[in-house]
Amino acid sequence: MSNLPLIHDLTLSELEKKINALGEPIYRSDQIREGLYKQYWNKPDEFTNLPKSLREHLGQIFLFNPLRPIKHQDSSDGQTRKTLFQLHDKLVIETVLMKYDAATHKGQGRRTLCISSQAGCALGCVFCATGQMGFKRHLTSGEIVAQVLYYARILHENDEKVTNIVMMGMGEPFHNYANTMMAIDRLNDPRGFGIGARRITISTVGLVPMIKRFADEKSQVNLAISLHAADDENRGKIMPINKKHNISKLLEACRYYVDQTGRRVTFEWALISGVNDSEEVARNLAARLKGLMCHVNAIPLNPTDGYPGQASDRQRANNFKRVLEAAGIPCTIRMRRGIDIQAGCGQLAGSN
Ligand code: SAH
Ligand code: SF4
Repeated sequence: MSNLPLIHDLTLSELEKKINALGEPIYRSDQIREGLYKQYWNKPDEFTNLPKSLREHLGQIFLFNPLRPIKHQDSSDGQTRKTLFQLHDKLVIETVLMKYDAATHKGQGRRTLCISSQAGCALGCVFCATGQMGFKRHLTSGEIVAQVLYYARILHENDEKVTNIVMMGMGEPFHNYANTMMAIDRLNDPRGFGIGARRITISTVGLVPMIKRFADEKSQVNLAISLHAADDENRGKIMPINKKHNISKLLEACRYYVDQTGRRVTFEWALISGVNDSEEVARNLAARLKGLMCHVNAIPLNPTDGYPGQASDRQRANNFKRVLEAAGIPCTIRMRRGIDIQAGCGQLAGSN
């Protein structure tokens, strides 16, 4: 693939300026924007709304498609599809589509995309396949957006659309804060992809300063925090970030977020048998979360090669939920999706 700048990396106003600077009338940039974000075109040739000469020129100065799908995997129930994409520098990322059909799920025909924010991840959570591979690089905003446009195009062919986006694929979105926010802007902007902010969820390992910064933006985008343990000793064993930002500081940042936005926080909890799924842990967790507007999203661990932990069984999961709820903390147990294709490195969690 070429080293040309990616057209999706431009903000909508940068796109306008750039097209204007080429001596084109203002409506041309609208046509290009429509082609990119409403028609999901990813080749200059497809822009049949433009004169051929402009199409050709754009093809010489911009890259239109940064993602080369190199492998698809479908789960046995056909409800989950994972795509491995190769980037221009040969690094790979993955994106997962989860379908929740109206007949079988209450989420009326929901189409949730789980997208990546980085190739690899620097945070090293021991149970996570991405953490086990280490950090490669940040994705640009255009590379983040392009994952959505790729699936939007496929769904569109079946008269379907992306209904929810979760940033729960590879990488830590708040470690790549600026690009993540720029991508979300373009996804949310009605002139861009146009999906509602409340249908987007950012999941973070718990980078405290970034949670505060995000709170100050007063965004309608949902926030999920990967907690996974209720005390510093145990959290530190599985999530190295806890040594830098401990649970008290993390929860303080979450309280700040709730105060600033009036929105509840979701805590993610990978249920690991015998590690963080006892009734005692649930009681400790409930005590720490008391008074915080939140919800716990628990999902049995997806086992990975680099970590010996196993998923909790249904009974332990249900007991965990029962104890939390008895203490007034709402909890949902999510089914693992696409377990047979290691979807999202086993990182799938439901959206709000
Ligand atoms: N870096 C961000 C977002 C990507 S991970 C974060 O850590 O929040 C998305 C979610 O999947 C996180 O809650 C993460 O803790 C969880 N996860 C990672 N590996 C998992 C596994 N093997 N099984 C279950 N959940 C996992
Ligand atoms: Fe990174 Fe999130 Fe995996 Fe931790 S769980 S290693 S932060 S992707």
